[in-house]
Amino acid sequence: MLERLRGAEQRFHRPPGSVGLVAASKAQPVPCIRALAALGQRAFGENYLQEACRKMDACADLAVEWHFIGALQANKAAEVARRFDWVHTVASARCAERLARARPAQRGPLNVCIQVNVDGDPRKAGIAPTAAADLAAQVAAMAPLRLRGLMTMPAPAADFEAQRRPFRALRELLDALKDQGFTLDTLSMGMSGDLEAAVAEGATLVRIGSALFGPRPARQ
Ligand SMILES: *Cc1c(COP(=O)(O)O)cnc(C)c1O
Repeated sequence: MLERLRGAEQRFHRPPGSVGLVAASKAQPVPCIRALAALGQRAFGENYLQEACRKMDACADLAVEWHFIGALQANKAAEVARRFDWVHTVASARCAERLARARPAQRGPLNVCIQVNVDGDPRKAGIAPTAAADLAAQVAAMAPLRLRGLMTMPAPAADFEAQRRPFRALRELLDALKDQGFTLDTLSMGMSGDLEAAVAEGATLVRIGSALFGPRPARQ
């Protein structure tokens, strides 16, 4: 996987090592996480809070970083804020406020990305691009949170050009926010099937599951 990622960086003229890898470990057992961590993988992404907490407890001796990449429900936000290092899926001020309120001061600010629904698909999570600046301003004003950038998860697309389009839209939105004065350094975009397109458009974090671990085991 690292070869594929470094190859994409080279092909699209990105500096070597400029795209970080979040191992999307949902449904993967603890021994798989430990094996990757032993190879030097640091960032792990989890979608389901209960499953994630169980694995964090089992991996408490590891120097790894936990990224919440699942659907964020307001009633789960407090525990997410206590347990995770990053949240990629903030899509409302209400959730952001709950994260901020529950973040333990001694853990430092929680890294946050705003999830954007660039396709405008009503079935998908994330805020509309036109609402991003307002939410960014609200999140940036919450001291327990550190707004890092934007995240998106577009619908699968058949060809490379079609894969690039939503990623380009997210990058342009990030650039527009930076022009408005926000300090942002993160574009969380790209999964197993479209990582090259995301790297081509400026991803700084790709979230990779099946191409790293093999097919996901069924959820218990
Ligand atoms: C599962 C998941 C991924 C990884 O998907 P793969 O196609 O297995 O690489 C990335 N991002 C999110 C939000 C996910 O839920």
